[in-house]
Amino acid sequence: MIVLKFGGTSMGSAKRMEEVFRLVKREGPCVVVLSAMAGITDKLIRAGSNFKIGDREEGQNDLQWIRNRFEDTCVELFRQKVSRDTIMLFLEKAFGDIVFRVSGEITQETINWLIVQGEMITSHIFSDYMQERGFPSVLLDAAGFMRLDEAGEPDLPAIERRLPPMLGLGGDLIYVTQGFVCMNHRGETDNLKRGGSDYSATLIGAAVRAEMIEIWTDIDGMQNNDPREVENTFSIRRLSFDEAAELAYFGAKILHPACVWPAQQFNIPIWLRNTMDPENPGTMIRSGGERQQITAIAAKDHITAIRIRSGRMLNTYGFLVMVFKVFEDFQTPIDMITTSEVSVSLTIDNDIHLDGIVGALEKYGAVEVDRDQSIICVVGDFLVDRYGSAARILHSLPDIPIRMISYGGSQNNISFLVSSADKKRALNALNVGLFRMTKIPDYAHS
Ligand code: ASP
Ligand code: MG
Repeated sequence: MIVLKFGGTSMGSAKRMEEVFRLVKREGPCVVVLSAMAGITDKLIRAGSNFKIGDREEGQNDLQWIRNRFEDTCVELFRQKVSRDTIMLFLEKAFGDIVFRVSGEITQETINWLIVQGEMITSHIFSDYMQERGFPSVLLDAAGFMRLDEAGEPDLPAIERRLPPMLGLGGDLIYVTQGFVCMNHRGETDNLKRGGSDYSATLIGAAVRAEMIEIWTDIDGMQNNDPREVENTFSIRRLSFDEAAELAYFGAKILHPACVWPAQQFNIPIWLRNTMDPENPGTMIRSGGERQQITAIAAKDHITAIRIRSGRMLNTYGFLVMVFKVFEDFQTPIDMITTSEVSVSLTIDNDIHLDGIVGALEKYGAVEVDRDQSIICVVGDFLVDRYGSAARILHSLPDIPIRMISYGGSQNNISFLVSSADKKRALNALNVGLFRMTKIPDYAHS
């Protein structure tokens, strides 16, 4: 069994859906995991907040925009009148349900339900389209197997119990299901956070012990650097699971930040492929094989750095425990950490509890906060750094103020913190210094 996941852009129009159909049809038995058509989730979120603040008119406009988009797509996609009539009836009912749900009190549960409707409708359209083209598929409701535990994290054992029996029809069919959609521990419809369809795909892959998980997007796999910030990027053919996990976590937008572990746990390769160019080799993520010295660079924005300076750290072994306890109490993960004799610097990307954290830390020393920072993460094989990679990295950045450096925590990641205003310059300078991609954009000289 293999798992094929198609993102929002791959499902973004009738033409793109036909393309996806052609790709799916040439595979054997598989589970097809679909995102909502591009743009729909954003609009649903907008509609939800409009209804929440009581702007019903704007909310209705958003829903109408979404409905038109689906209807226009179906008119173009379906060839026979009877299947077109059937899908229009389905849309009528689906939007009837949506309007009914938002006419009552708008709770968080209503919003959670609302924002996965893009996936629910897109998968239904695609499955009906397969039917029309003579390739029947089984449409699985992801809320029936995708589960979150009490901490709001995917509950893989629960998914493993539910999903395989649902594929019990011999497992040699094409199953279509929704990414992103799940059910939380209270039994309410919920989601796997933005970009979560990748996570759905790897969780499904792990639960059915798939041979391969293919993630189809609209670029040729993982790039060596951020293509939005740097002109000369190239795709990476191979990555280890650890490297891919670091790159996804530290900002490579092609993969959901947490989606690697389910595949890694059962050693299932993840293949990143391009719907626009199916013959392109893309990126293969798997264990073993040759390692590169320096593989890729990613950057993560909206980072807040906190420095705690205390005379008490000197000879005081309990200091770090007290500091970490504050972050535990506020359920805020720490990304990077560096220490000196008298102070600790660390970074967080979720600053909703920042005031509370700072208040609690002030008991232990002077606290300084820097917002709008970016973590730049260089991924590769840095085991004992036999190639002098650290020197090459620093050498590439002679004029960029570096706020923190983290080296040695993992053998495949060297990360540093810069002000977000310097990020673009840093990424370009590293592209030149590490990959010898010599086209230096004009502003790099300024
Ligand atoms: N549709 C969801 C989003 O836009 C999930 C996904 O596409 O992965 O975030
Ligand atoms: Mg995505």
